[in-house]
Amino acid sequence: MLSVPEDHPRYESLLLRERLVRGFEEGLVAKAGLIAHGRGEAFDYLLGEETVEWADKATLAAAHCMYRSDNPVLSVNGNVAAVVPELVGELSMLGVGVEVNLFHRSDERVNRIIEFLEEHGAVGVLGGDADMLIKDLSHDRAFVSREGIYSADTVMVPLEDGDRTVKLRDLGKTVISIDLNPLSRTSKTADISIVDNVVRVFENFIGYWKKIDRDSSFKLDVYNSFDNEENLRKMEEKMRGVSFEGG
Ligand code: ATP
Ligand code: MG
Repeated sequence: MLSVPEDHPRYESLLLRERLVRGFEEGLVAKAGLIAHGRGEAFDYLLGEETVEWADKATLAAAHCMYRSDNPVLSVNGNVAAVVPELVGELSMLGVGVEVNLFHRSDERVNRIIEFLEEHGAVGVLGGDADMLIKDLSHDRAFVSREGIYSADTVMVPLEDGDRTVKLRDLGKTVISIDLNPLSRTSKTADISIVDNVVRVFENFIGYWKKIDRDSSFKLDVYNSFDNEENLRKMEEKMRGVSFEGG
């Protein structure tokens, strides 16, 4: 049982923290992951902790893009697994490939994360057999699975490091990032940059995927006219425009 009282005004945010701390204690989350979450929280505060118009458009565009891909793969790290394991499970059931890929990799942690995701409904999680290497990437995120990220045409990267985003683009892949920081190298390099909390993004994304599955032309114009530079500009403007007067 989580110990955050449901009537607390910052319930959602505290719940996420608690999930991360638990995840850390259970060996899913790296120490550095706790710090990365804090940076995300600060940006989320500037968004009022809600999905703003352009993040919503980016999520819809991402759903169309992934839906139309031959081998769409979601890259999952410890933070994502700890915070939204059920939603990762749901995405895997919809046909999105799921691969565990870690900056601070150990076989033990990878296997623990795979097991945790499977307990929450995920199927066919890749990453335990990271048998291929992304060249010229000096950290552990270079190890990828042949059927997963290595051969993916589209890769969704929540809470990603900028180095690998650049490499994935260099390899000709379409990259969709989920990162609350519109100024990060990841956001600036991705083809579609969703500037929103991964929890809200996945909920929203799953809803859009199902609508597209029923009608593939659902709001297709948003995808066709989506301009990522404009998206990032709008997201940055939104954050810079926050008023610090009062409440
Ligand atoms: P980059 O390497 O892309 O320039 P960075 O080095 O600033 O980025 P990293 O630590 O590599 O940042 O990546 C973590 C990113 O994840 C941060 O930008 C942070 O804002 C973001 N983040 C953390 N928690 C969440 C969350 N729950 N939802 C979305 N983004 C998040
Ligand atoms: Mg980084």
